[in-house]
Amino acid sequence: MKPSRGPVAGESRTCPHCKATILKSAVSCPLCQHVLRFGSAGADPGSSPTTCPLAVQATVQHAGTGDALEYSVLMEVHDETGKLISRHAVGVGAINRTEKRTFSVRVELSSPVGPL
Ligand SMILES: [Zn+2]
Repeated sequence: MKPSRGPVAGESRTCPHCKATILKSAVSCPLCQHVLRFGSAGADPGSSPTTCPLAVQATVQHAGTGDALEYSVLMEVHDETGKLISRHAVGVGAINRTEKRTFSVRVELSSPVGPL
């Protein structure tokens, strides 16, 4: 038997403040920004390095004629074989004739045990 006390990579939990699904290893919630102080007394909110290998932003504008257009923002995650791991609708809404919406996606990577 090997002693395994650290968090398992990819484990999730529910943020007690905003109820979002977040990483169990997160020191603070990436959505509501609340600092989550659970368990490890020595946790330093600024000590876990995070990289962002993917950041995409695009603006979609109504063509200017016709009725309002509805949109659905879908997020899919696939593994290395193409198998679907998760699929979520993260937002829906409408764009009227004079409006536009900007959509942003960020993928943040960090170690579940913090810096080495
Ligand atoms: Zn939260």
